[in-house]
Amino acid sequence: MFVLLLGAPGSGKGTQGKILAERLGLRKITTGDILRAAVREGTPLGRQAKKYMDDGKLVPDSVILGLIKEELANPDAKDGAIFDGFPRTAAQAELVDTTLGEHGQRLNRVLLLDVPEEELLRRLTGRAAQEGRSDDTPAAIQTRLQVYQRDTAPLVAHYVERGIVHRVPGSGPVDAIATEIQRILGR
Ligand code: AMP
Repeated sequence: MFVLLLGAPGSGKGTQGKILAERLGLRKITTGDILRAAVREGTPLGRQAKKYMDDGKLVPDSVILGLIKEELANPDAKDGAIFDGFPRTAAQAELVDTTLGEHGQRLNRVLLLDVPEEELLRRLTGRAAQEGRSDDTPAAIQTRLQVYQRDTAPLVAHYVERGIVHRVPGSGPVDAIATEIQRILGR
């Protein structure tokens, strides 16, 4: 089963994806984590991505498409995976569709984590204090929320047309949200 976790920055994709990956025994593919590791290690990918990430902007598709293709080609992700943090643009969504299609697969479910904007801001600001991510500055947080609305939120319509979108209220206790997600997935 291929599951996409979609939602604004701070909506809980990482937290819920981790729980779900453990419970379903699926690999979670998180482009943000891969990019942060690349930045830490100073690889060519990291050097290309850093500036965009620090500003809260999307790393250009010319850089990301190759990364996604590589991740989907991983044998661990042959029969299923949880996608966290991608696709984030129309071009990325198209690549995911085509690549899964080439393997006789498709995206089975899109879980849209719905969290009010005030709460997203509260969570992201709180995380800034705890984790010290370089893109949790007030300016980068603003940009990330805007970029989500502009570039990523429109993907919802694309998946609604296919009838695979499930809205999940993303406020409230982590466990209750995880249980609701499992109920939706019937697993
Ligand atoms: P995230 O941890 O998913 O919020 O991602 C942190 C940052 O990494 C984003 O603000 C982008 O700069 C970059 N990033 C992560 N995933 C993608 C993606 N699929 N496409 C473009 N940029 C991405």
